[in-house]
Parts: sequence; C-alpha cells; structure tokens
Amino acid sequence: MNNGKICVSVCAENANEFLEKIEQAAKIADVVELRFDCLKQTEPEILFKELKRIRQNNQIELLVTFRPKEQGGKRDLSFDERIYFWRDSHIYEFVDWGDVELEIKKHDLDGYLNAIYNRVIYSAHDFFNVPANLELIYEELSLESVNKNTNKQSNVVKIAAQANDATDGLSLFKLMERAKAEKQELIPIAMGESGVWTRILGLSRGAFMTFAAFDKESATAPGQLTAREMIDVYRVKELDETSEIYGLVAESVAYSVSPQLHNAAFKFHKMNAVYVPFAVKNLEEFIRRMVNPKTREIDWNFRGFSITIPHKIEIMKYLDFVDETARKIGAVNTVKIEGDKLLGFNTDADGFIEPLENAYGDLSGARVAVFGAGGAARACVYALQRENANVTVFVRNSEKAKSLVVDFGVEIQDLQSQIEPLENFDVVVNATPLGMKKGGLENETAATAEQLKGVGLVYDLVYNPFETRLMREASLVFAPTIGGLAMLVAQAAAQQKIWTGKDAPVKEMSAAALGKLQS
Ligand code: NAP
Repeated sequence: MNNGKICVSVCAENANEFLEKIEQAAKIADVVELRFDCLKQTEPEILFKELKRIRQNNQIELLVTFRPKEQGGKRDLSFDERIYFWRDSHIYEFVDWGDVELEIKKHDLDGYLNAIYNRVIYSAHDFFNVPANLELIYEELSLESVNKNTNKQSNVVKIAAQANDATDGLSLFKLMERAKAEKQELIPIAMGESGVWTRILGLSRGAFMTFAAFDKESATAPGQLTAREMIDVYRVKELDETSEIYGLVAESVAYSVSPQLHNAAFKFHKMNAVYVPFAVKNLEEFIRRMVNPKTREIDWNFRGFSITIPHKIEIMKYLDFVDETARKIGAVNTVKIEGDKLLGFNTDADGFIEPLENAYGDLSGARVAVFGAGGAARACVYALQRENANVTVFVRNSEKAKSLVVDFGVEIQDLQSQIEPLENFDVVVNATPLGMKKGGLENETAATAEQLKGVGLVYDLVYNPFETRLMREASLVFAPTIGGLAMLVAQAAAQQKIWTGKDAPVKEMSAAALGKLQS
C-alpha cells in the first residue's frame, strides 16, 4: 500500500464536453487534471459554477494546466497569454492545484502563484529524450519549494521525459531517492512505451502522483495507461518497495496480453507482486543496469520475467543456467532471478502440448503438419517429437528451415506450392503469423477448408483474433480446432509455477486475457 495519487487528465474543446469528462474522471481518479489549453470556448460562468459542484460532490482535487504546444499542450500560446492566464483568470478559486512550467516559475518572482494556489506543481517536459542534466532541472524546479500559504515545503516537482529504451527511465526513477532525502515531493515520468514501467512502479517508490487516461482514446501523453488498467490490472496503489516485480521483456510490449494474464494470477493469490511491461531495445544494457543483482543500479525486488521477440536467443548469453528444454529448443522465454543468479527456461513446449493432448489424446505415432519454422515452430517440433509424433514442417523458405532439419531431423516441405490436401495428417498446426490481426494478415490462412478435409484437429497458435480464418476454414469441414489463447495461457501458467511455485488460476487468467483481446 502507498500514499500516491492517480491523476486523470481531461482534454476537450468545449465547456460541456470538458465538464462531462471531468465528471466521469472524478469517479475513478484522486486528482483530475483540467487541460485548459485544450478548451476553445471557455464559457467561464458555466464552467466555474460546475467545477465547484463537481469538486464538492466527488471529494477529489482539481489540478489546472495551461500548456503551450512545445510543452505538450494543444495550442500555440504566447508567453504573455500564459502569464495572463495564470495571474488574471479566477480559475484558482475553483481548483486546488496549479501546474506551471519552469519559465513561468522563473517569471513569478513575487511568488504570486504560490500564494493563491494551495499547492503548485513545477514541471518540465522533454518529448525527445531524458535530458543528461536531469539533476540540474530538478534543482531549478525544487528551488524555493516552500508554499507561502502554509509555510511548508509543499510544492511538487514534476519531470516528464521521453524514454526511448527501458533503461532511459532509470535516472528519473533514481531521482526519487534524492527527492525523498530532501523531502521534496516528486512526480517522475518516463513517457512512451519504454517508460510505462515508471508510471506503474512510481507510486510504490514514493512518487507523489502518477498520470493515467480515462479511456484508451483520451490519452494525453505517450505511454499513458488507462486509470482502470492502473487500478485493476497493475494495482499501483497497493504496491510498495517490497513488492515482487516480474515483467515482460520485448522490443514492443504495447499489444501484449501477458500483463493481464500474470497480474490476474498475482491478484488471485493475493500476492504483493506485479507484472510490468519493459520495452527493451538494448538487452545487454537492460540486464546489466536493471536486472543482474550483481550489477544493477536499483535496489528492487525483481524476481523474473518473460522474454520474447527479438531477445529469446540473445538472452541465453547472460544467464547462469539454461534448462534442457530451452537448450534443445535454442531459445529462452522465461527467466527466474534466484539470489544473484539468472536462470533460463522455455515454457512454450509445455504450453503448446498441454491443450493439444487434452483435445487429441495420446500423440504417439500421430502425423502432424507444422506450418512455419520460427521460434514457436521449434518449440512445437521439440514437444511433438518428445511425445513420439511424426512431424512434417511446411515453410516458405527452406534455407531458413535448415536448423530444424539439423537439430530435429524433420521432413521439410514447401508451404507456397502446398496445394495438396492435408488429409494424410491427423493434426495441422499453424506457427506462422498468417491470420494475425496485426500487419494486415487477418484474412490470410495457411490452409483452406478444401485442404483441411479429413484432418483430425487444427491448432492455430495465433491468438488475436480469438477465432482465426484458419479456424473458420477448419469448421467448414467439421475439423475440431484449438486457438492460440489456450497455449498462451498454458505457457504463462508454467511461468507462474517456475517463479512462484504456485499452481496458476487458469480460468481467471484466460478471462483476463480475453477481456483485453476483446476490448
Ligand atoms: P517467428 O520466429 O518470426 O517465425 C515465423 C515463421 O512464420 C517463420 O518461419 C516465417 O518464415 C513464417 N512466416 C512469416 N510470415 C509468413 C507468411 N506471410 N507466409 C508464410 N510464412 C510466414 O515467429 P514465432 O515466434 O515463431 O511466432 C509465430 C506465430 O506463432 C505468431 O503468430 C505468434 O503470435 C504465434 N505464437 C503464439 C504463441 C501462443 O502462446 N499462442 C506463442 C508463440 C508464438 P520466414 O522465416 O520465411 O520469414
């Protein structure tokens, strides 16, 4: 549990829509940020009266911002317009907080803002990267941070800067230690997909507030999650410095449902643990500075992570141990941090085979066609051979499939010219991206209904959409199907077992993943 607040930003062009959104945000937020730079028609009389009512009815605090375009605002604003807004509008009578940029703070020599607002946030933004002179910016913002009303050190410093890799958020995150020592309230935010982890973990380390969007469509800064996700999925207000941290390490994390799967499991077991997305480009730097207990720069309870495209092979060189399944497949998808050691596993093979055996039964002697020769196909081939199935792999480029022939001795056939019926196969598995929602492949299929006649079972590893074109083709000829969600959940359940030793709540995890996929 922590004392941090969740602030929902509201931006709308006219007063009525603005008020409607504030009213909605007030139901879930502790603080609502009123982005006055978004408003084209202010209609102060309606606005001020309604703000007063909303504030009284909802027990929330209102924060006002008036940002110029170069600081992430919606409008071109001259310096004079900004000064006029802050000194002459009567908005301060209806809100609790003012959030001003460094140049306004510097101009406010007589401390006027500090005297009329209960509390002031002094903020700086960098939409390109995390500045090297971060400490200096912090010092400028925190200077004379004593509020004239209360005579207390009660003003807040906010620094929001773009992270282009997960490690970029480190310096912002570490700034909290200094702020804590100096009793300076701080809101550090690394923006963008690579900075999401700072938004989730900030409150647990003493950040004063974290920002969220009301819904997916109304995010006002890059990387903002919705307030519902912050509260229901990541439980950000329940976390503290002792919380166990797990995560997803991948180049792109935005579309993953793994946070929903794993956080549902932690919630079910009432664990003080959270699973956080880390968008990582430079894996060596991430492992050295954030993960490896011998070299990492932050003292946190990091326990393990899932790892996926494009790092599943590279990760192996940073590990102290790789289990036999991962070694045979040639890729690691799960890392456990135990003491100061990093241990690697692969749960794709078990995750793949479990739903298949549940649906098909004993695979010994079964004839299985696998489409694709990438990482997932390798896990399938390994698992199928372990169960004594006869595997044929269909690929579009046989050169790229050579390692499958060498490592597993499977037969390779050409996917592109494969127009023959597949009736000689008991099971057909798609391990290519054909049929995926992303990348314009949704209407593609590795095989048609005509080809699938007589096949005993069709298993598509693609999980988004829930029902793929291949599965629909199979249904036309009454072939039973399994979708990719079953494997996704089973491999995540196996990861949970490795990390926590507990049996995962598969039903709750499936429901959470499905909820995200259908949202
Ligand atoms: P990968 O390593 O990139 O391999 C993809 C394979 O598909 C390669 O053999 C590739 O051939 C082939 N391929 C790509 N585009 C194709 C196309 N348009 N036509 C024919 N073949 C094509 O990817 P992966 O990690 O193995 O993943 C493959 C699929 O499985 C993805 O859709 C992924 O979402 C899914 N998956 C699901 C789960 C789950 O839990 N349900 C787990 C892992 C993966 P080239 O080498 O010629 O490019």
